[in-house]
Parts: sequence; structure tokens; C-alpha cells
Amino acid sequence: MEVPTKPEEIIFRSKLPDIYIPKHLPLHSYCFENISKFSTRPCLINGATGDVYTYEEVELTARKVASGLSQLGIQQGETIMLLLPNTPEYVFAFLGASYIGAVSTMANPFFTPAEVIKQARASQARLVITLPCHVDKVRDYAAAAGVKVVCLDAAAQAAPEGCLSFSQLTSADEREMPAVKIHPEDAVALPYSSGTTGLPKGVMLTHKGLVTSVAQQVDGENPNLYVHSEDVMLCVLPLFHIYSLNSVLLCGLRVGAAILIMQKFDIVPFLELIQRFKVTIAPVVPPIVLAIAKSPLVAKYDVSSVRMVMSGAAPLGKELEDSVRTKFPNAQLGQGYGMTEAGPVLSMCLAFAKEPFEIKSGACGTVVRNAEMKIVDPQTGASLGRNQSGEICIRGDQIMKGYLNDAESTKSTIDLDGWLHTGDIGFIDADNELFIVDRLKEIIKYKGFQVAPAEIEALLLNNPYISDAAVVSMQDEQAGEVPVAFVVRLNGSTITEDEIKQFVSKQVIFYKRIYRVFFVDAIPKSPSGKILRKDLRARLAAAV
Ligand code: AMP
Repeated sequence: MEVPTKPEEIIFRSKLPDIYIPKHLPLHSYCFENISKFSTRPCLINGATGDVYTYEEVELTARKVASGLSQLGIQQGETIMLLLPNTPEYVFAFLGASYIGAVSTMANPFFTPAEVIKQARASQARLVITLPCHVDKVRDYAAAAGVKVVCLDAAAQAAPEGCLSFSQLTSADEREMPAVKIHPEDAVALPYSSGTTGLPKGVMLTHKGLVTSVAQQVDGENPNLYVHSEDVMLCVLPLFHIYSLNSVLLCGLRVGAAILIMQKFDIVPFLELIQRFKVTIAPVVPPIVLAIAKSPLVAKYDVSSVRMVMSGAAPLGKELEDSVRTKFPNAQLGQGYGMTEAGPVLSMCLAFAKEPFEIKSGACGTVVRNAEMKIVDPQTGASLGRNQSGEICIRGDQIMKGYLNDAESTKSTIDLDGWLHTGDIGFIDADNELFIVDRLKEIIKYKGFQVAPAEIEALLLNNPYISDAAVVSMQDEQAGEVPVAFVVRLNGSTITEDEIKQFVSKQVIFYKRIYRVFFVDAIPKSPSGKILRKDLRARLAAAV
């Protein structure tokens, strides 16, 4: 399936044929297009309480929330921030915003106040939905900026001072939802990602983009590629990451699966929920795979219902992948490869295609349907053939529209021919399977969470005792990668490794903390002032 177009371009496509994709539909209409087939079936199961919401309840509640948001003044094109762990309300709010043409920006609820405010300000969020315990992070900013704060209702408690209560949204009259005309190119989700370089940026994912991405995974000739209506899919990955929002929630809704919501991974509740609800699909990240591999408890639970364990968001070593296969007797273990800017899924294993394809250990599957992939030489830009490693590029309707208010970064990520450059290095083998072998870009992936070195470097440079700094990744068995810093002390400064670690810890969420500090005389830089991270990584390898 190698189609030479221009003489210099070798384009790779899926092993499966293209499909029809209803790109004209707004995301919520697309997700609920087939709802009449499963309206009374479980849609969301709250793992913490056992509460079940059917498809018709979820759809109705989302429309009520749409109406409620509109009554609070949220208009088409405006942004709301979801500062929440996985909860049913997350789903109602995201879909509710979609119904009125509003955009959801998703943030990690454990962000520090500074991190939350940075994203709220950059995304121009007009309303924040959060838990009572996180209200203090935004209260002052919200009051000063005229931003409304809506709190999920704590049992028998009124909403904290200055906040509205979420039940106000769910009790709105859905018939008063304003009629809006949504254009397929309108943004609907705004996750933040640093992409190939620099600081986190708002990634504009459109209705058309997300419809296309979900369809690539679950529609058309092979609708059961990944998940179907009989499935119980575990939603333990955070919905604020696009992997979970798209490949778990939206794919699950589209096909009519039951989505079992879990707030936080812990091996025992994870196994208990699998056993109790007969989970069939478990989308995970490599640290969860590691926990499963290491835990003797897995054998004590009945996990025979699981037919698919899908890992993504970070590299999964071949040995680890193989070691987990035996733990789930009836499951396929495969990988998907995503990047927020790519919508996010670029490739996935095809274990459940009509004509099943073998899962190769270490492979990230094959490029999604209705999309093109090419591998280019990072130095020359030349398009490479099979088994040659280069930068992975993708083109298709599923990729982002661009970065919010950042045309320059958009231009350096999506070229004039529409190719999104991932900053990942990989190759495609003779069976059209993609293998990722390295990363050109700066980001560090701590348990699948993004750490942007530029963000930590900016903090370090704010320290009065530091004259220069650079942050790179160090391999770590538990987390995959952790950030470490190279620091140049200011003349005469005696600042210590611990002081630097604490200085950073106070300002960032746990996964952005510095693990080691290496003091150096100078940070190696190119003539144009770019940090030579490769040199630092080599120094790190020599040092540890
Ligand atoms: P994010 O935008 O947070 O989803 O991060 C995207 C990045 O995570 C990709 O560009 C890769 O560097 C990495 N990544 C995602 N999935 C995989 C995978 N299956 N194997 C290796 N790296 C991955």
C-alpha cells in the first residue's frame, strides 16, 4: 500500500480501506447519532458510587447543562474550563458546552494555582467548573477577571462562597437551549500541549477533527475495530488528557458502550472494578502496564472478561508489553500512538479488524484510515521508505486546526502541504506497522503526562541565584521519564540541589518536579542560542 505521489514522497496509508465520515455533524450529534439503538442501556457508570446513567439520561442531562451554561451567559465560541477529575459531570459539561458551540479547555485539577490561572487566562475561559476542594486555586483570579466558578455539589453542602452549584446547570430546562449553527471547523476542545517545542499552547480541536478521529477508530467497514456496544470500557485515564476524552469517552459514546468511570489508578480498585463490572476494554498507559506486570494481586481477581488492553501516550518497552500478555488470559495487548495536536490518534493496532492483523510487540499499529503518514529525514526533509527511521508526519482532517493565538507555532508544526510534524522518530516496516524509536522534540513524558522543559527553565531562570538552566529527560523505571536540570549558578552563589528542587516544587504540579540537578559552567547552545539538548542528554548518560 505504498503510493508514490510526487517522486520524492512516499506516503503510507492504513491497511484498511477509507470509510465514509460524517464530518458535517457537530461532535455531540455525531456521538449520539445512533442513540436510539441503545438509549436505555448504561452509558456512564460511576465506579466510586456504582451510580449508572443510561444513554438517554446522559443525552438529556447534557442538553440541560447546555441550557444552564447559556443562562449563565456562555455564548457560542466562548471557552469554559473543566478543572475536574473523571466524574459523570465532566461528561455532561463537555457535551453541554458542545451543544451550544462553546469550547472546553481541560486542565489537571492538581495543577498549582499559578498553573491553573495561566491556562484560564490564555484560553480566556469565561467559566470554570471544579470541585469545592479546588475552588481556592481560582477564586481570586475569577473574581478579578469576571469569571464564573461552578462547583460540583458536595454532599449536603452549599456551593462555596462566590460559586454557583452544578445542580443549577443540571436543573435547567433543556427546551431553553439556544439553537446555534455549528460549523465543522469550529473548535470544541482546547487541551494544552507544548508540541514539539516551547511552552504549553492551546490546541484547537474542531468538531470535524474529533468526529474524524473517532470515526477512524470505530466507524465504517470495521466498526468493531476497537470497541462496540456490548463493551464495558474502563475510563481510568484522566479525561483532561485527549487520549481518554477521545479514545475512551467519545469512542465509547459513539458505539454505545458502557463507560466505567474511575477517578484515580490504584491496582486494587482497578482489579476490583474489572471483576465487578466485567470490564472488556482497558485503555491504559505504560505505568499502569508496569503496575500490572509487577503486581501478584492480578492472579487473585477474575479478569477473564478483558478482551483488550490498549496502551498509549508514552513509549512501552517490548519486554514489559510481553510480560503483561500472560496476565490477562483472554485479552489482546496492543498499542496506540497519539499526540494531542494530531487529534490525537495517529496509529493503532488492528487486532479486531474483520481480517485480524497480528499484533507485533513494540509496534504502535498502523496509521488510521482516511489519513496519510510519511517518514522524513529530519535533516533534509526527504521522504523515506520502509524500515528507514525519520520524523513521523501525518495529514488528515483529524489534526488540530492550529494553536490558539499562535500562528507562528502553528506554522512550524503544520507545513504548507498540511503535514503535521510530530517530533517523533520512527519507521514503518514491511507489514505497515509503525515503530517509534526516538523523540526529536523536547517534551518529557512522566507517566504519560507532558512536561515542557521550557516551562521549568523559565521558572529556574527566575531564581536570583541561577544564571542559566536547561531541563532534559532522564529514564526512570516507574515514571518512564523524569525531568532533570543542568544549572549554572550565578557568580558567588552557593545554591544547593535541594534548594533548587524545592524552589521548583513549590510552583508546579508533582510531575514537573526536578529529580536531579547537575551544576555546570555553561549550558551548551547553538550559535542562534538554542539549547543543545542532545549534548546534555549525552552528558547525563555519562553521569548516571
Ligand atoms: P500527548 O500530546 O501528551 O499525547 O503526547 C504525545 C507524545 O507522546 C507523542 O508525540 C510521543 O512522543 C508520545 N507517545 C504517545 N504514544 C506513544 C506510544 N505508543 N509510543 C511512544 N511514544 C508515544
